[in-house]
Amino acid sequence: MTTPRPETLAKLTPVLTKRWLSPDAWQIGTYERLDGYAALRKALRAHPDDLIQLVKDSGLRGRGGAGFPTGLKWGFIPQGDGKPHYLVVNADEGEPGTCKDLPLMTHDPHSLVEGVIIASYAIRANRAYIYIRGEAVYAARRLRNAVQEAYAKGYLGRNILGSGFDLDLVVHSGAGAYICGEETALLDSLEGFRGQPRLRPPFPATHGLYASPTVVNNVGTIASVPYIVLGGAEWWKTMGTEKSSGPMIYSLSGRIANPGQYECSMGVTLRELLELAGGMQPGHNLKFWTPGGSSTPLLTAEHLDVPLDFESVAAADSILGTTATQIFSDQDCPVYAVYRWLEFYHHESCGKCTPCREGNYWMVRVYRRILAGQGTHEDLDTLLDTCDNILGRSFCGLGDGATSSVTSSLKYFKQDYLDYIEGRTAPKLSEKRLVGA
Ligand code: NAD
Ligand code: SF4
Repeated sequence: MTTPRPETLAKLTPVLTKRWLSPDAWQIGTYERLDGYAALRKALRAHPDDLIQLVKDSGLRGRGGAGFPTGLKWGFIPQGDGKPHYLVVNADEGEPGTCKDLPLMTHDPHSLVEGVIIASYAIRANRAYIYIRGEAVYAARRLRNAVQEAYAKGYLGRNILGSGFDLDLVVHSGAGAYICGEETALLDSLEGFRGQPRLRPPFPATHGLYASPTVVNNVGTIASVPYIVLGGAEWWKTMGTEKSSGPMIYSLSGRIANPGQYECSMGVTLRELLELAGGMQPGHNLKFWTPGGSSTPLLTAEHLDVPLDFESVAAADSILGTTATQIFSDQDCPVYAVYRWLEFYHHESCGKCTPCREGNYWMVRVYRRILAGQGTHEDLDTLLDTCDNILGRSFCGLGDGATSSVTSSLKYFKQDYLDYIEGRTAPKLSEKRLVGA
């Protein structure tokens, strides 16, 4: 196990994670003793437009994967339109490998609640929802407890802290469908319909929940807001890069000594993250990794020094996504890993559009054939052709995301596919698995 050097340790910037190790930080008394709700008091003295400007000035970008500028999104909410406005927090964290929002809600739920109140005040919303994954029972319990505590202390409800601002906050548990993390499917699900994506535009900013202006933001995005209000935009920008400001929680999993969440300035490299995480497990050498979950193109050991910010990862032909770095070694098979992810996309495809519904079904079949030692060279062309017909032709990002690991693994690891096809690698699946594929 490697010990991080002081200069690498300095890359750690605990901001959103700073209370995680404090005992009982999830309880309101502890939270208040650790600066909790100080940002709300400050925010309620400011004009809502000034808060939107502050968030714009900070350069905060969405932490759910897409990196859309948060202040800009808030600014899209029409004012004086006579319609109710809503804030919806996307806590349906489901991207494989991603594990930053659930620990945040478990260890420090009040930071999210405080962020919700400030953001709702800024966009003039009197009702907010946190849509949390159905499986996240423990985190949802902590969150509901935090909401109750906040009501009891006058941080939620009527005339919050005497400001004249009213807000009700509802924690809603989903039913475990990955597609409900797509913002418009989430809104449909919240309205009581089957969760399937809506056509965009119009975007939720103008036609969201109940066809009213709605901001949909990720947990990490909203939980960042109290820190920006207290610390200021300039302080926030001291972390990260010019276009990707602030700290980011990187979830590290796989063949490393110490998996977990590492909060660092955006732009940290995988080499540095690995050093912080104690290096690779003994006997394992890095072979491939995802920079931001399974929907992002794979990278390899050649990319250890790519700064993990939105622009630099894009320049390396991948996507920063959810910063879920899943680490695989020379003892892992990229063909099998991609197959397992494809099974997930096939299972989670909502079926609304043909390229994703049919394409993922067929790709799973082709992978099973290859892994059973019955693949052909033409199968590789079929996979690329299928991806070509899914990417950019699907109704939502799920279809596009499913192709990422297929095309990137064929780009970097074609030999691993050929080894199955030409009989140098023993089949991993039995023929039986092909039946009913
Ligand atoms: P997107 O780029 O289409 O949109 C990002 C956000 O900006 C949305 O809220 C959208 O409404 C808003 N927006 C974009 N253009 C707009 C405009 N012109 N006017 C108003 N609002 C506008 O991305 P997306 O499809 O919402 O999300 C895709 C991302 O989700 C992927 O990068 C993926 O990494 C991530 N993802 C995350 C998880 C998770 O568990 N956190 C799961 C799956 C995917
Ligand atoms: Fe549904 Fe997949 Fe089409 Fe998205 S891309 S709408 S998940 S079928």
